[in-house]
Amino acid sequence: MTGSEPILQVALPVPVRHPFDYLPPRPGSAPPVRPGTRVRVPFGRTSAVGVVVGIARASAVEARRLKRVREVVDPEPLLDPAMLKLLLWASGYFHHPVGEVVVGTLPKLLRLGRAPKAERTVRYAATAAGAQALAEGLGGAPVQRHLLGVMVGAGSISEAELAAEHRGWRRPMRALIAKDWAQPVSDRPDPPLPSDRPILNPAQSRAVEAVEACLGEFRPFVLDGVTGSGKTEVYLRLIATTVARGRQALVLIPEIGLTPQLLARFNARLSCRVVALHSGLSDGERLSSWTQARDGTADVLVGTRSAVFVPLARPGLFIVDEEHDLSFKQQDGFRYSARDLAVVRARDAGAPVVLGSATPSLEAIENVRRGRYHRLDLPHRAGGAAPPRIDVIDLRARPFDSGLCDVLVEALEQTKARSEQALLFINRRGYAPRLMCHACGWIADCDRCDAHLVLHREEGRMRCHHCAAERPIVSECPACGSKNVRRLGLGTERVASALEKRITGLRVARMDRDATRRRGSLEALLDRVHAGEVDAVVGTQMLAKGHHFPNVTLVAILDADAGLFGIDFRATERMAQLLLQVAGRAGRGDRTGRVLLQTHHPKHPLLRVLVQEGYRKFCAEALTERHGARLPPFASLALVRAEALQRDAPQSFLRDAEACASAHPHPGVSVLGPVPSPMERRAGRYRAQLLVDATSRAALQRFLPQWIAALESLPSARKVRWSIDVDPQEMV
Ligand code: ADP
Ligand code: ZN
Ligand code: ZN
Repeated sequence: MTGSEPILQVALPVPVRHPFDYLPPRPGSAPPVRPGTRVRVPFGRTSAVGVVVGIARASAVEARRLKRVREVVDPEPLLDPAMLKLLLWASGYFHHPVGEVVVGTLPKLLRLGRAPKAERTVRYAATAAGAQALAEGLGGAPVQRHLLGVMVGAGSISEAELAAEHRGWRRPMRALIAKDWAQPVSDRPDPPLPSDRPILNPAQSRAVEAVEACLGEFRPFVLDGVTGSGKTEVYLRLIATTVARGRQALVLIPEIGLTPQLLARFNARLSCRVVALHSGLSDGERLSSWTQARDGTADVLVGTRSAVFVPLARPGLFIVDEEHDLSFKQQDGFRYSARDLAVVRARDAGAPVVLGSATPSLEAIENVRRGRYHRLDLPHRAGGAAPPRIDVIDLRARPFDSGLCDVLVEALEQTKARSEQALLFINRRGYAPRLMCHACGWIADCDRCDAHLVLHREEGRMRCHHCAAERPIVSECPACGSKNVRRLGLGTERVASALEKRITGLRVARMDRDATRRRGSLEALLDRVHAGEVDAVVGTQMLAKGHHFPNVTLVAILDADAGLFGIDFRATERMAQLLLQVAGRAGRGDRTGRVLLQTHHPKHPLLRVLVQEGYRKFCAEALTERHGARLPPFASLALVRAEALQRDAPQSFLRDAEACASAHPHPGVSVLGPVPSPMERRAGRYRAQLLVDATSRAALQRFLPQWIAALESLPSARKVRWSIDVDPQEMV
């Protein structure tokens, strides 16, 4: 009897690599369920909300053990075929359980079974093409024609009026929108005054024209423009054109780069509905943005990496700003690359994708060299500001205290005298990264990690930056009782307080995760900087992200050495990007900026190439090195990480994993390891890793599926937590 019934393959938010089979609600009752629809199903002792990802004729599960879907949550699919395809592809490519991908990336309220809902009222209007189609008597289904007639007659119509007009209006309206016969016209602000738009310089015009010529087809671009060269201006023009043609734009921004200023700039410049999606939103707000993007009531979605999973009714343009930024790669759970998925999405949608950066990733540069991506250059700062001067300061020969050398102090005093502002960058928060006994050498360490505790003086605590551990500060050595306990090294807190002591009247602010943890505190800080209430900001890499401070003319990198000797093969690339991004904050207004780079290694080849010859030359050399070492982008990697409370368990699992690989060797694939992770113990767990090195993506993807299946059935796998990271960005 059940043999004739379709089998619904349901993705559930559990760490299982396949969907689960269910029968439809009741034989022959409700209309057939389509893929992309949420259903509530019995699962274990409870029920769960999942998404139908496929429909099959038969199941491998015995018929009598198949359960029925309890409830169909959505009257029509929540996810369109394009989004479902992307999610399934991502699950396959990154080898992450399908349910955690398909269901796990939905906004929380949708995961709980809530209906997609936008918070604001929305109006719809017929387009010129729609009005013409109506006049010519075209226009498919009678309901569509009816709605078109109502809209043409009334000018526009709200959702509430539509619901009163015709109960099932959403589907025909979506069909009308898909044909470009109708469009949402919600709360459109007045078009911005033409005078608000700067006249594009020739390089900007060339970039805009190149992309505009490709609207409607897939084409990846790398917009390579120094900081302040007017990349955002290029985005704004492209978005405006896209929206004018009835399409939507998705703009991905790094985690810390999505500032209220940026949103305000988008809203002020675009006469369309812009919605945002980021971690600062409430669940209701997230749902609202998601829904408006999916329904097409929003024209532009600006968001951090998870926004790449928001369906769009009329996709037309994809932008990834600061594409080199690490935050586009999720580092835990489902380890996807939002940048790479944006390119996949653009390809599926037949739309251009613009990857913008002042410091493009080596991957992007190599793709340009191979002719896969097209490069657009913005070589000069917009509005004619001169590039900043970079001075490398050799710390070995100078008075130096609490991170500040004499040259820097003098430069700060001059900057303040001119009523200009300074940014000081140090990549560590807290007061000091070590507390050490001068008598016996004891160091305050975390009990649960292979890491020192960082001193946070204001709060009077020592904190581990890798787990939640914290302790009160000690003034007496717990090992020998000596009172000669010293704070070693520098953090933002220490530099800020040293600055205040050193230069009287200097108004100093801190910008790091501690200082901006409370909601709204980053905004308040940015406001103070813009209002000129601050002379110097001491901050972590937060400073490097997209902020535009026109009055900043001095930037100091307090410890350029930190990144010169990293263990990760990407360490130098990251360091170069960070240095240039921070330096790019200097002199963005009409005044020239100066960058001071403090180092004990002024002759280091990286600094020399970067400062004297620039980022391009640095990249060319770095790519030659990577090529020689057979590292990405000339190879494809995957990293298996394992951790456990027992010291040996991770390594013995990974040894078994390696044995599985050597039992079935694959051409072009080698497995290296296992080795303990760079920080072997974290949060009380021992960690180890195994690197899979393949000559190409294809070779890697041919190897992984069977191998992962083999790993899952290893007895030693049950003693560890393990995960796989495809195209890892950090090797820790
Ligand atoms: P980026 O995104 O590359 O850092 P922005 O687009 O933010 O650069 O531009 C930097 C500054 O230059 C902004 O204040 C912007 O308004 C201004 N600007 C951009 N393009 C032009 C232009 N063509 N003429 C004058 N000013 C411009
Ligand atoms: Zn001691
Ligand atoms: Zn710890």
